Amino acid sequence: MSESTLSRRDFLRLSGATALTTTLTGCVGYPPMAESNPDLAPPPPQVSDTSSAGGYSGSEKPVNSPQEALQRLMEGNQRFAANRLINPNRTPERRAAVARSQKPFATILGCVDSRVPPEILFDVGLGDLLVIRSAGEVLDEAVTGSIEFGSFELQIPLVVVLGHERCGAVKAAIDALEHGGGHQGGKKKGGHGAEPGDLGYIVQGLRPAIEKARSWGMGDIAENAMRANVSLTVQQLKKSPVLSAAEESGRLKIVGARYDLDSGAVEMLFGV
Ligand SMILES: [Zn+2]
Repeated sequence: MSESTLSRRDFLRLSGATALTTTLTGCVGYPPMAESNPDLAPPPPQVSDTSSAGGYSGSEKPVNSPQEALQRLMEGNQRFAANRLINPNRTPERRAAVARSQKPFATILGCVDSRVPPEILFDVGLGDLLVIRSAGEVLDEAVTGSIEFGSFELQIPLVVVLGHERCGAVKAAIDALEHGGGHQGGKKKGGHGAEPGDLGYIVQGLRPAIEKARSWGMGDIAENAMRANVSLTVQQLKKSPVLSAAEESGRLKIVGARYDLDSGAVEMLFGV
């Protein structure tokens, strides 16, 4: 999908444009039967129309640049790692404020690993992050398109590709390749090193990073492959016409990072 073929209208249709959503919310209201059925939920708290401010209503300063977004993320992670969580933006008031529109300040592409939930380890709340997760942060069109959506439609100034220590997906892909797996498409069903279902797609996606790590010939292969994968994924995203245009204009930064399972700390690796 090139930028020239990607009209704003496409994205607006895709996302349910803010203005349209606001209009519908205003028109539809609560169904009349709510008056005759006391069991139905009460009306939501009244909130002012925040569409002009993108729905942002936190007490923090608004994020206006990639650097400010990076700073807020890292401050949140420092709180998490130091066990000083403030759990921001998780109140009913915040929920009401972002119900009309959203203005997340960062996109996180992370692993599906249950120990690496972005909202928790960056100590943020509702409406703060656009999160995409796949095993080993492997890209496909839906993943890349989702990140493009965040940049193009929501004007998010920062993309973080977040790898992590002892990634099970990377380890499994290393094992699969050692046993002759990693078939393109991954449609083979078990046996002889072939992965069932679509697991081969994940293995194939991680293959370049694993081969790169092997070529280094030293250190922990899984750790090196994870780092190589973060680097290659950042490079791949920079090829997106949507994202590269935003980067060239200075509106967007794409960075790579590593999460340490033991310490809880996120370390920036590339692009900062
Ligand atoms: Zn993982």
